[in-house]
Amino acid sequence: MTLTAKDFKSDQEVRWCPGCGDYAILAAVQGFLPELGVPRERIVFVSGIGCSSRFPYYLNTYGFHSIHGRAPAIATGLAASRPDLSVWVITGDGDGLSIGGNHLIHALRRNVNLNILLFNNRIYGLTKGQYSPTSEIGKITKSTPIGSIDRPLNPISLALGAEATFVARTIDSDRRHLQSVLRRAAAHRGTSFVEIYQNCPIFNDGAFDELKRNDLFRHVEPTDDLAEAFALSRMDDPTPIGVFRDVDRPSYDELMAEQLGRAVQIHGEGDLAALLT
Ligand code: SF4
Ligand code: MG
Repeated sequence: MTLTAKDFKSDQEVRWCPGCGDYAILAAVQGFLPELGVPRERIVFVSGIGCSSRFPYYLNTYGFHSIHGRAPAIATGLAASRPDLSVWVITGDGDGLSIGGNHLIHALRRNVNLNILLFNNRIYGLTKGQYSPTSEIGKITKSTPIGSIDRPLNPISLALGAEATFVARTIDSDRRHLQSVLRRAAAHRGTSFVEIYQNCPIFNDGAFDELKRNDLFRHVEPTDDLAEAFALSRMDDPTPIGVFRDVDRPSYDELMAEQLGRAVQIHGEGDLAALLT
């Protein structure tokens, strides 16, 4: 059966604020999923906590709205034990880079076979507008009434620092670009990390408007040179967008399978087969 975007819509009422960038990302993902050619029962979306983490409710696939910051850990267990699944992690700048920062970097360095989509709106939306790990210095919010003094994290630099094998950035308002990045992320085996600039019209409206207005984007293509990719990630005038890195390395499940095979060679089958079934 050929699936369409409609097949990936669930019966749940979508409950983001009017105008939220999450709607555009959801539509882009639903429009892209049929291309995967994977049956719905083999697709899993795992999220943490935050506005973006409502995502799995709205997709007619398997899904798991899990615990704060822990989506990469849960998805790691799934992807390592079920390499036949297409596993997606949905997180945000708060969920993925604050409470879940640790889980994120370890999934990246292990090259678990996941697609991680980090919606970056540079604010905590669900808890009503506190500064996040990607908010700019001087940001005035309810929790920083005279301006944030924290240096923001750059998610692309962080992912490259963990030597993630696929690292990209796209934006909610450019559906064609977003879908082209999703396509490349899905085709990559191992961890694909995609930062998506996402407008939060309620608590951080227009965070990316200047980029769009002036077309302040430099379109990048992957380089095998990690230092070069890192240098690109540090630029902001114009802001680089596209795929920074796309390299082949064995994924975590492949390494695990190889090691289990070696363990059987060394120690014999023993109870291993029973344990794995
Ligand atoms: Fe979207 Fe912001 Fe509303 Fe959350 S608070 S649903 S990010 S507009
Ligand atoms: Mg956020």
